[in-house]
Amino acid sequence: MSIFLERLKTLKRDPGNRRWIYVPYDQLTDRFGPLAEEDPRNLGLIFLECPAKAGLRPYHQQKLALILTNMRHFALEQARRGAAVQYRVTDGPYKNGLEALFAKTGPIEAMRPAERELRQDLEPLVQAGKLTYLDHGGWLSTTEQFRVSQKPNPPWRMDAFYRHMRRENGILMNGPRPVGGKFSFDQENRRFWSGSPPAPDPPRFKIDPLKKEVGRLIKDHFDHHPGNLDLAALPGTKEEARQLWDWAKHECLPWFGPFEDAMSTSSANLFHTRISMLLNIHRLSPGEVLADVLDMDLPLASREGFIRQVLGWREFVRHVHETTDGFRHIPGMHVPHMASPGDGGWHRWSGRPWPRSENAKEANAGAPNRQNAKVPLPPAYWGRASGLACLDWVVAGVWREGWSHHITRLMVLGNIAALLDVNPRELCDWFWCAYVDAFDWVVEPNVMGMSSFAAGDLMVTKPYISGAGYISRMSDYCRRCAFHPKKNCPLNRLYWAYLVRHESRLQGINRLRPVLAGLKKRDAALKKKDARVFKRLTAVLTAGEQATPEAGTLTD
Ligand SMILES: Cc1cc2nc3c(=O)[nH]c(=O)nc-3n(C[C@H](O)[C@H](O)[C@H](O)COP(=O)(O)OP(=O)(O)OC[C@H]3O[C@@H](n4cnc5c(N)ncnc54)[C@H](O)[C@@H]3O)c2cc1C
Ligand code: SF4
Repeated sequence: MSIFLERLKTLKRDPGNRRWIYVPYDQLTDRFGPLAEEDPRNLGLIFLECPAKAGLRPYHQQKLALILTNMRHFALEQARRGAAVQYRVTDGPYKNGLEALFAKTGPIEAMRPAERELRQDLEPLVQAGKLTYLDHGGWLSTTEQFRVSQKPNPPWRMDAFYRHMRRENGILMNGPRPVGGKFSFDQENRRFWSGSPPAPDPPRFKIDPLKKEVGRLIKDHFDHHPGNLDLAALPGTKEEARQLWDWAKHECLPWFGPFEDAMSTSSANLFHTRISMLLNIHRLSPGEVLADVLDMDLPLASREGFIRQVLGWREFVRHVHETTDGFRHIPGMHVPHMASPGDGGWHRWSGRPWPRSENAKEANAGAPNRQNAKVPLPPAYWGRASGLACLDWVVAGVWREGWSHHITRLMVLGNIAALLDVNPRELCDWFWCAYVDAFDWVVEPNVMGMSSFAAGDLMVTKPYISGAGYISRMSDYCRRCAFHPKKNCPLNRLYWAYLVRHESRLQGINRLRPVLAGLKKRDAALKKKDARVFKRLTAVLTAGEQATPEAGTLTD
């Protein structure tokens, strides 16, 4: 028998007369909700491991390990508190597992799942009255607060939502005025990092017997999944989640603001907190994290910058996801649907279909594509060398860790995909597979709504695109590249080629007015070269080949 099940057996409680709660993989908390409100001795808790879900997409091995380790530790923590625990491996979807237990437990309750995909799975049980949803106490805002902060129809704006939340909750406010005189210090948070102050190393954690067992399970059953498995990088227990947050508070947050947009080959992390994975599975509670930061003595730019991410962006993207039914219905826009689950181009890179792709028959994933971008995701995103040092560096980190920070996601991975006209749905599916913190409600808005501009100005004011200028200003990547950011980097020509291809769609975007005026003045011969480099680089990268400056058409 497994070590985990042995331990659970020693904590067996009488299951009679209990209130039965299903605890999904991303609700591992007793800080709010029924597990906080009810005496654990009155609770019966249901946990389901679902191999069908794990195999649905080529998820990073580290992501599978994060979820399984935390679920198992959390189940033991709750059993120690006195709850009766039913921990099962379900055959087929989650609803099968719950249905099978229903006969034993009677009516089941659960906080409403954050992931639409899980809600869809469980819907038949809700309809049948076997499962009842409770409010999810982890969110910091309500649908009503989002609605009141926005116009009824898009575009929807994060800053209006954020200001509303700050005012309504009196967060960083002096009466009606924001502390420091303005709501955002984003303009001040754009420093290049040259090595000082030194960036902290993320903590390493004990590889306890449970983690080791999960590691073995992954190697035995999910070894065909991509990514590196690094068990010592995984916080698995309640105490380890706290340890990561303590590290983030003391080592990262004081410098979080000024270097928020910096990137470096000396530190994948810089001063980012890495707490997204724990917030999204609720090992850390967003409310407690926010309260801690408000209590701390921090420079205002860092404090405000961090609060904007957690109270602003994180909540805002979830409302956009919910309001558009996961980017399936966008007012005023025709949204095509694509097969779900997509594998993010895994089959093209690996040369074989993802084993579960026979499930991918239903064309029901929202696939907005305002730029009509159709290029398949290049194998470089799965680890094949592209010759673009920025891309190769960030991708290597993602497959090593299952994580990279925000600016690398937006201005390297997202930017290069946008400049290449990569299909936004495929890019989104790639992020979903590759990142430990990716769940539909957060990955779909960030990739399709923000990074790819696939839903137009639905939630951002302009596309996040740039040539080599931004990357060379904010990172040291270019120093390691065969291309030179000013002389021959193909991204510069790709930038102009993007503007030409999408000019008609970009008209009317205020923030792009100066750029489009510049485009009008650009010499026709240069535009021809831009288009040629776009065509050639797209061909090289989609073929899985490496770009080099020697291939003349990439540079002139
Ligand atoms: C293309 C793209 C894809 C992304 N995919 C995801 C994803 O799958 N899951 C995910 O949690 N975040 C995603 N983000 C948002 C953000 O990049 C990550 O939350 C952040 O990098 C996580 O690292 P961290 O915990 O060190 O964050 P920090 O930089 O330390 O920020 C603190 C916290 O703020 C929150 N936050 C900041 N920005 C966002 C945002 N735009 N949306 C939601 N929360 C935010 C996160 O909870 C994060 O932990 C994505 C961003 C982009 C541009
Ligand atoms: S020169 Fe261009 S391709 Fe190379 S690292 Fe810099 S931005 Fe990236």
